[in-house]
Amino acid sequence: MLIGGRTAADMQATLAFDVEDPITPESDDVALWLAEILTEEGATGTFFVTGAKARALEERGRKDVIDALAEHDIAYHSNTHSVHPTISEYLADCGWREGIERVIEVEEPGIDDVERIFGVRPRSFGRSGGSYAPQFVAGMAELGLAYAYSPIEHPTTAVTRFAGGLTFGDHTPGFDHVLADAEEFPQRFEDFKRNLTGHVGGGRDFLFVFVAHPSRVRATEFWDIVNFANGRNPPESAWKTPPLRPASSMETAKDHYRQLVRFCRDTPALDLTTVSSLIDEYESEVESLRTAQLVEIAMRAASSREISIDQPFSPGETILAFCEALLHVAETGELPRQVARKPVFGPSENPPTAPMRRTADLDELTEAARIVVEIVERDSKLPTQVQIDGCRMGIGSLYFALAEGIITQATQQDRGQIALPARDQFPAIARDIAVDIPDTLAGWGIHDRDLDPRRITDHTIRQTWTMKPAGTGQQ
Ligand SMILES: [Zn+2]
Repeated sequence: MLIGGRTAADMQATLAFDVEDPITPESDDVALWLAEILTEEGATGTFFVTGAKARALEERGRKDVIDALAEHDIAYHSNTHSVHPTISEYLADCGWREGIERVIEVEEPGIDDVERIFGVRPRSFGRSGGSYAPQFVAGMAELGLAYAYSPIEHPTTAVTRFAGGLTFGDHTPGFDHVLADAEEFPQRFEDFKRNLTGHVGGGRDFLFVFVAHPSRVRATEFWDIVNFANGRNPPESAWKTPPLRPASSMETAKDHYRQLVRFCRDTPALDLTTVSSLIDEYESEVESLRTAQLVEIAMRAASSREISIDQPFSPGETILAFCEALLHVAETGELPRQVARKPVFGPSENPPTAPMRRTADLDELTEAARIVVEIVERDSKLPTQVQIDGCRMGIGSLYFALAEGIITQATQQDRGQIALPARDQFPAIARDIAVDIPDTLAGWGIHDRDLDPRRITDHTIRQTWTMKPAGTGQQ
């Protein structure tokens, strides 16, 4: 075995399946045996099911498939997946709050259908294709669902807090048509094992082992590519089923699949789990910071000159804690013993990069802190900028200045004027996101070629203010 010799499980992993093809009845049988073999082998996984697929299974009377899947973790995979408008298409022009409300309006009926048909409320959503927007993460969180296969991942962990939700990172390529292919499978299986060794050796904490789309195990093409590629949106009466490989080839597919399941089950370095179990493990958050922690974060901000996403509070929660602490100083003359966490979204417009104001004294910073707290209480999101005496301070500049204000209090050194530096107004990870998100949206063959990624990308960059490692409250 490639990953041998370890006694403890080193990486958590979830076997994942996307059950999404409502058109092809033969795909129902594949979903059935994928779930049954998993149960037979004493393993478990997470099945991401679309609202449309759940309704199709119900209409076709496939209680056997529904029951077999329900032995495992049932998650949500959007209401209609690739039928236009897709998630990115219906959110491309939306503002922040407007987008969240649209998500709830479109997706809540789908979640309700999956719950009604499978008898269990999904606790997570798995990204459907390359369709993504940060309002979807926030909307799922409001509906009580975590977000899986996230294109936004914290640099140190695959389990991240982002845009108000708990998110799990991306997945391995999967096997799909390779399962039925006697020539291709052995090589792909070896590649899979080697990549897994790399992930474990690289210290990764969690990985989705994507197994397959049941439909693509049997069909020679994706059900959605043959109907909905490049924005095409035929009426339901014109939907085509994809071409199928022979039914007899499914025996080969089952054999290969069983090998894969056994390998994952028996590899000591892999701890197989489900998304629902991971949510239980990771959902708690640190609820307050002691003064010493807050001062340490302030000092790190001052020395690193970066907006840190590595703290138990997100950058947005941190700047609010700085504000609350300075307001406490204004009232009592000293820093508070601790500051409670207040969840907050990032700004919904781009902050100015160069503040018109270069410096502020402690009184002016305290006034800015008061304004930030008032705006967050009203809007649940950070302001883009704060104005004092008609002069602007960008929220990123304010983060560094407030940190200096906290240090001044903690060290009892009056520094007089505190600088408002014209640095990046976002955590450094925003620079990668600015490149990755347009690629993700353009890389999915279903999307309309005219889909404009700019607004979704901008919203994502602004929500880097919400990023932190998940599970900070674990003890
Ligand atoms: Zn999918």
